[in-house]
Amino acid sequence: QLSTSYHRRYHHCAMGRGQRLLLSHMFQPQNLREDQVLSLEGRLGNLTCKSQRLMLQVGLILPASPGCYHLLPYTVRAMEKLVRMIDQEMQAIGGQKINMPSLSPAELWQATSRWQLMGKELLRIRDRHGKEYCLGPTHEEAVTALVASQKNLSYKQLPFLLYQVTRKFRDEPRPRFGLLRGREFYMKDMYTFDASPEAAQQTYSLVCDAYCSLFHRLGLQFIKAQADVGSIGGTMSHEFQLPVDIGEDRLVICPNCSFSANMETLDSLQTNCPACQGPLTETKGIEVGHTFYLGTKYSSIFNAQFANIHGELSLAQMGCYGLGVTRILAAAIEVLSTEDCIRWPSLLAPYQVCLIPPKKGSKEAVATELMEHLHDHIIEGASQLRGEVLLDDRTHLTIGNRLKDANKFGYPFVVIAGKRALEDPAHFEVWCQNTGEVVFLTKEGVLELL
Ligand code: ATP
Ligand code: MG
Ligand code: MG
Ligand code: MG
Repeated sequence: QLSTSYHRRYHHCAMGRGQRLLLSHMFQPQNLREDQVLSLEGRLGNLTCKSQRLMLQVGLILPASPGCYHLLPYTVRAMEKLVRMIDQEMQAIGGQKINMPSLSPAELWQATSRWQLMGKELLRIRDRHGKEYCLGPTHEEAVTALVASQKNLSYKQLPFLLYQVTRKFRDEPRPRFGLLRGREFYMKDMYTFDASPEAAQQTYSLVCDAYCSLFHRLGLQFIKAQADVGSIGGTMSHEFQLPVDIGEDRLVICPNCSFSANMETLDSLQTNCPACQGPLTETKGIEVGHTFYLGTKYSSIFNAQFANIHGELSLAQMGCYGLGVTRILAAAIEVLSTEDCIRWPSLLAPYQVCLIPPKKGSKEAVATELMEHLHDHIIEGASQLRGEVLLDDRTHLTIGNRLKDANKFGYPFVVIAGKRALEDPAHFEVWCQNTGEVVFLTKEGVLELL
């Protein structure tokens, strides 16, 4: 038997299938003023960027401690959609999903000297026995030791493309920009093990192509730039950057050919394009992904080996590939949104449709039932929209006020039961956020459009 509160939350559809998701029941602090948002962040100055302000204002995230945020229901939905897309891309090239512990023993990091090299960015802890650990900022050590623990690997089994989507911890010197630079954040990190340098190069291109495909599907314009290998090391590296003013990386791009690079990689600032000698232009970017060709840098330390075609032991050729999952969400909002309204890559919008029934007591109030029928019609007719249709049941508010909110949240489709819902046949007003179009459609028309 269902509890009363369950019944309150989900008004069951007439058909008994599906449920009506009511906006009034969402756990979500709403319409915070800028000063309220600032005090939540415990900051005196301005918020550092648009995505941070908007995400706090509409209740997508709440600050927990410096650089750490609670991810609220809308954000988690968007993130789960993003992770599903990442899974599709990674598994399409043979990726196998794993999940490694966040606690990473100091010995592993001492073996690669990164226990010292990473300095204060590494969050270190001691257990009750005095044994030292860090909270994983990345997992090259852990995954290489994991693969090295398998002693009878053969070249016939390779390549292995192992990846995970987990929380990462970095004691950033300046956590800021909301989810863009946190101290605790989600990353997709993939580590690949190949039998030869040639095969590893091929894997490297495959993963880069998968990243390109992901950003294309998200509808995000990106730059694939040559990058520095940093503390991860290796011999070849690219960053995937979203060009935007608040980006912390400086990039050069060649308008003549496809060359682009992080400024860090260039010896001097007035250099010309190394590929075509043409003049370079400069732009700023947010690093959303990073790929490294590692060779045997880590496999030689941990002895990650396999039996080669001659039956001799050979070191695995590795690559590692990161995507900032929470950073991609915030960066997408940063580049797509207006100053006041959030815009999502449509595949990531937490809910695809918001239905706004008439105000209680208004002339149109008789159309409330029509809206409920429309809801059930959509859910019955388009199974992929199950769980994607939110009913803004705050009927004490005018349609206009609720439309303003819906606009701010960036649902790809907003459907209103206004005056024309009283005509025969009833027409609903449909706002298509991504094209800016407003159309009047019958129940059947709405379903067709969605
Ligand atoms: P940055 O230069 O911005 O500090 P990084 O080069 O240190 O990033 P990588 O070690 O390459 O980061 O990690 C892979 C990906 O993880 C990055 O491309 C980025 O998308 C994401 N990432 C890194 N640091 C953070 C952070 N503090 N908060 C959110 N995402 C992050
Ligand atoms: Mg960093
Ligand atoms: Mg970087
Ligand atoms: Mg990087």
